[in-house]
Amino acid sequence: MDNEFRDLYQEIILEHNRSPRNFGTMDDATHVLEGVNPLCGDHYKIYLKIDNDTISDIRFEGSGCAISKASASVMSTTVKGKTTNEADDLFEVFQKVVKGEEKVDELLERVGKLAAFAGVSEFPMRVKCATLAWHTLHNALHGNKKPISTE
Ligand code: ZN
Repeated sequence: MDNEFRDLYQEIILEHNRSPRNFGTMDDATHVLEGVNPLCGDHYKIYLKIDNDTISDIRFEGSGCAISKASASVMSTTVKGKTTNEADDLFEVFQKVVKGEEKVDELLERVGKLAAFAGVSEFPMRVKCATLAWHTLHNALHGNKKPISTE
């Protein structure tokens, strides 16, 4: 990972951790699901409003480390307005991003800020932090109502 990229990674994580987007609850959610990462103590609840197979709104609440919170925040801005199929595709891409299976340059063009989390691939313990919100979203979209755990 070059220095320029490392800076981008840190900047996005710090910024989204400090002021998470779409943070809070939702009264008229169509899908709600809780996700926990016991290893780190990350614990979030994701609220979705799905209209015609499109994620028209998303909120999340809870707490955890900077990476888990920043990842939930970036995820919320990324999937808002997307179809559920597009969100599933992004979930697959994100799994590859955090495992370092995608080239960073190509990623930046394709998925923008999500690429910042490629930095996590250097810290295997952190992969579960970064993917917690995504696993929760994915399960919520597929009708799971029981809280999920990364363990
Ligand atoms: Zn964590």
